[in-house]
Amino acid sequence: MSNAHDYQEFRSNLRRLALDKIEPHAAAYDREVRFPEQSLEAFKQLGLVGLAFSETAGGQDGDVLAQCIALEEIARVCASSSLTLMVIWAGLVPVAKHGNKELIETVIKPAMAGGTVASICLTEPHCGSDLFALRTNAKREGSDWVINGQKRYISNAGRSDWYTVLARTGEKTFGLFSVHKDDAGFSVGKRESKLGIKGSPTADLHFENCRIPAFRAIGDETKGYDYISESLTWTRALIGAQALGIAQGALDQAVNYTSERQQFGQMLSKFQMLRGMIADMATAIEAGRTLLYSAAEAIDEGYPDARKLASMAKLFCSDTAMKSTVDALQMHGGAGYMNDFPIERMLRDAKITQIYEGANEIQKLIIAKDVYDRNAERSK
Ligand SMILES: Cc1cc2nc3c(=O)[nH]c(=O)nc-3n(C[C@H](O)[C@H](O)[C@H](O)COP(=O)(O)OP(=O)(O)OC[C@H]3O[C@@H](n4cnc5c(N)ncnc54)[C@H](O)[C@@H]3O)c2cc1C
Repeated sequence: MSNAHDYQEFRSNLRRLALDKIEPHAAAYDREVRFPEQSLEAFKQLGLVGLAFSETAGGQDGDVLAQCIALEEIARVCASSSLTLMVIWAGLVPVAKHGNKELIETVIKPAMAGGTVASICLTEPHCGSDLFALRTNAKREGSDWVINGQKRYISNAGRSDWYTVLARTGEKTFGLFSVHKDDAGFSVGKRESKLGIKGSPTADLHFENCRIPAFRAIGDETKGYDYISESLTWTRALIGAQALGIAQGALDQAVNYTSERQQFGQMLSKFQMLRGMIADMATAIEAGRTLLYSAAEAIDEGYPDARKLASMAKLFCSDTAMKSTVDALQMHGGAGYMNDFPIERMLRDAKITQIYEGANEIQKLIIAKDVYDRNAERSK
């Protein structure tokens, strides 16, 4: 996309897709704790999976801004659906970027048709924030790699075809590996019962002498951590987009409800206290959008402050999602507490954006480190 008009048109297409094909099922995905299959089909029709891949890999070469707009518009009506798409990207993009020719032919080329589901597998039972402590290991045996260990809270688990797994390959080195759902020694644990994003399955993964051929090591088997660090800057921006979409969805719901309900002979929308909440919400969302799009540009252009900006966008947009959903529910009064209205689902969905892809405390550590590092550089 080359100009503002292209992005505007892309957003309008996404908004239409979200309203026609995703929103009608969003409450059922949540209530029935069901994978968003119809959303996946809609992504396929619009070629959305290819958006995060280069044309040489068979994708559409969509920039990070376009990916953010897509996730924002989807999350505006259904956070689970936006997570499904985002996790497919997060699982497959490292393979496309660093995988060998055979791996790209096996995993990426078929995925561009849109039917493949993938997971990214970092977290373990004893380590989430402190990824360096991970214990899952991969050992080379002849022409194979053998993986042992356990992953925790993996999105799309049980529905994915491919799992991109970070595993220790030496005392201080890590590799990334592509594990297929049917590989011997691989199994998926029970689906977690959770507060929100109920359409997105979350489960443990078990690797017991899981043997995979050598070509399934993604790139250099000692550089997995570097690949993931690079990827996390991008995926944090994407979670910022998801959060922003949830916040915008909450604002939509608050405006609709306060424009329809009367108290004391007036529309709720006429009460100044509620108008103040709407103004605060709209302002925070616009500020978040500006920050997020700056982060997207920095990632696309390779600016040195991309990592900091992505953390800031994730932090700010997720806090905005949480506050906006709480305030929008408040404006619904008792009705907001009932699951007849989407706002209570949105509130439950918003919380996870402050936790995954690095909890917000971790984002603050990254931002503060960047601030001090720059200060130290300036005083040299
Ligand atoms: C629904 C869901 C889906 C997920 N999907 C995936 C997935 O697809 N793939 C994947 O790999 N992981 C996934 N995760 C895991 C997620 O990324 C982790 O839960 C998250 O990174 C936090 O790790 P933790 O849960 O181990 O918390 P911990 O690391 O134990 O942290 C607990 C608390 O301590 C704080 N804390 C930790 N260290 C510090 C510090 N140094 N300074 C200050 N505060 C600190 C944290 O911010 C947090 O508030 C998912 C999690 C959930 C809940």
